Amino acid sequence: MTRTIVVTSGKGGVGKTTTTANLGMALAKRGRRTVVIDADFGLRNLDLLLGLENRIVYTAVEVLAQECRLEQALVRDKRQSNLCLLPAAQNRLKEAVSADQMRQLVSLLAEDFEYILIDSPAGIEGGFQNAVAAAREALIVTTPEIAAVRDADRVVGLLEANSVKKIQLVVNRVRPAMVAANNMMSVKDVQEILAIPVVGVIPDDEKVIVSTNRGEPLVLADPLPLAGLAFENIARRLEGEDVPFLPLEAPREGFLDRLQKILFAKVI
Ligand code: ADP
Ligand code: MG
Repeated sequence: MTRTIVVTSGKGGVGKTTTTANLGMALAKRGRRTVVIDADFGLRNLDLLLGLENRIVYTAVEVLAQECRLEQALVRDKRQSNLCLLPAAQNRLKEAVSADQMRQLVSLLAEDFEYILIDSPAGIEGGFQNAVAAAREALIVTTPEIAAVRDADRVVGLLEANSVKKIQLVVNRVRPAMVAANNMMSVKDVQEILAIPVVGVIPDDEKVIVSTNRGEPLVLADPLPLAGLAFENIARRLEGEDVPFLPLEAPREGFLDRLQKILFAKVI
């Protein structure tokens, strides 16, 4: 059984492409034959995040026009052969692939792959309906900001109207210190507003930005940074493992903090 999962959000720039690239790579590392479909035009596209931009010859558009075979449009990852990329987005002006065409592509891909991840436009953008048409499951990515959470809430409704059966939440760019200081919504706050199960919590980490710029998904880094581990944990949870959430939100009061407090208290 192939699982087709759309990665989407209410607002743009919250980490959909980052999540798709890292989750796709994490599933491939686990031995799952995985294809990631780039159905969004963002600032940084999926091909760039995976470092595969120079190897694209054809896109889904040529496959659908029968100008090439599906295998010719698939770009296999050079580091992890279980991972393939299918470029489907062309430019901002036209909707490259219709909803029916997306269903057609997904049913072709389902013959060869165990996971199909679709990097979709945000819910407020054109092309969203087409990108989600073929998916049975969705990951909604949000940051812990009011605007992003509010827009994510609208997307839950849109997905339900599109017969997406299973909707789960990824809270990205969490900053534990800000949460502890009551300057950022906690994962629990976000979860309570959206009322969908959380499948991932990713810390805000500049290593994510570096990996984006290098075209090296963080889950390939050695040693694995916390954000990379958080992405790997999403893959494990999708596969049914019961993985505890990383203690991102625990108050970061180590021994030195406590010592400092005691000394400071004595001084004043
Ligand atoms: P979207 O696809 O939703 O538009 P991207 O995945 O392109 O969003 O991410 C937008 C920007 O945010 C990128 O520059 C990316 O490196 C950065 N980013 C995403 N997730 C994180 C994170 N956990 N920590 C730090 N930066 C992040
Ligand atoms: Mg994107």
